[in-house]
Amino acid sequence: MPAQHTINSNRLQHRIQTLADIGRKGDGGVYRMALSPADLEARAWLGNEITTAGLELRTDPAANISACWKPELPTRVLSGSHLDSVPGAGHLDGALGVLAALECVERIKELDIPLKHGLEAIAFTDEEGRFGGMLGSQALAGQLYPGVILAARDLNGVTLTDAMAAAGFDAQQMPLAERDRKTLHAFVELHIEQGPVLDSMNCPIGLVQAITGLFKWEITLEGESNHAGTTPMNMRRDALQGVVDFASQLQRVLDEYGTCHSRATIGKLQVFPGAANVVPGKAVFTLEVRDTDAEVMKQLGDAFQRTLFAVARKHDLVKNFVILSELPPAPCSEWVVETVRQQAEALGLAYHAMPSGAAHDCQTISSVTHAGMIFVPSKGGKSHSPHEWTAFKDIEAGTNLLLNTLIKLAS
Ligand SMILES: [Zn+2]
Repeated sequence: MPAQHTINSNRLQHRIQTLADIGRKGDGGVYRMALSPADLEARAWLGNEITTAGLELRTDPAANISACWKPELPTRVLSGSHLDSVPGAGHLDGALGVLAALECVERIKELDIPLKHGLEAIAFTDEEGRFGGMLGSQALAGQLYPGVILAARDLNGVTLTDAMAAAGFDAQQMPLAERDRKTLHAFVELHIEQGPVLDSMNCPIGLVQAITGLFKWEITLEGESNHAGTTPMNMRRDALQGVVDFASQLQRVLDEYGTCHSRATIGKLQVFPGAANVVPGKAVFTLEVRDTDAEVMKQLGDAFQRTLFAVARKHDLVKNFVILSELPPAPCSEWVVETVRQQAEALGLAYHAMPSGAAHDCQTISSVTHAGMIFVPSKGGKSHSPHEWTAFKDIEAGTNLLLNTLIKLAS
């Protein structure tokens, strides 16, 4: 059996530390929101690292940044993630996947490994959603449309068009980043788990089988506001009591119609008029449901609608719901998953097969090529927080796994 290759750990560690300081504030959090000054600084830094490494620096119309090796080959294996962060983020979400991919491509160049397919380490634009999320990967996959681009703005009202222009890009050109599918051979994203499963198992590698889909509804229940003292309990149309009844049934619905991967969350609730001495006549809340299987998600959606109907009838309320968003689940490519598994075995790394409960660029890219993900553990499951942490030995193991996987996929 051929020997397994290894990365330059010092170089990777140094780059992770350097990037971590770009956009870091006094509270320890990273504030590198897409196309912000800190993000632009990180992009410039990455571009410099790429050219210094002797790789070809490419930037596409969606402002995705790539490091290419053997770009003259007709097909390519891609690996990467995102440089942008949520406000107050940790230093690894996205950044690790970009820097690990760069390290692997640079290492393969140094080792002069013969390839059938070119390699590309890529940093996608706005994964975290300052302007909507996954914009760079959607553009590459041909899923970003001019209407969406024109309407996109951040919470402060800054338009995507203006932010792209400030970065030297024409936002209307973003859809031109779409790739010819025939040029794409495979995609692998290394990412921190952002959950507690691997850490609790003391397992260094997550072998991602599928990325969960989700639907998000905004539900309104309407009854009647009335005097809290004079309205007898049995004569009320209390909207909050309907919410409580519905919420108490989330677990039952998951038990009956879901899988061990199903999740249901009510994360936002408002009651009206919102006074201590008034029976709440109206309640508005969100329901977010996730699973890795499209059929299961449909069953869950139907079951939650029936539950809502029953609750409204029981409490004499009027129900209404609007779909805020829907994202289908994305199974990972069996070929890529099996390649990662074989390389983990060859490297003697323990692994755990699992779904990704969070959305990633890989979800979008999986619609246009064979795609898969590798997870490394998050200490205590913490992410989107300055407490986000992964031991470097786990980062090293995951990147070595990525390196050997990319070699296998591109050979
Ligand atoms: Zn991420």
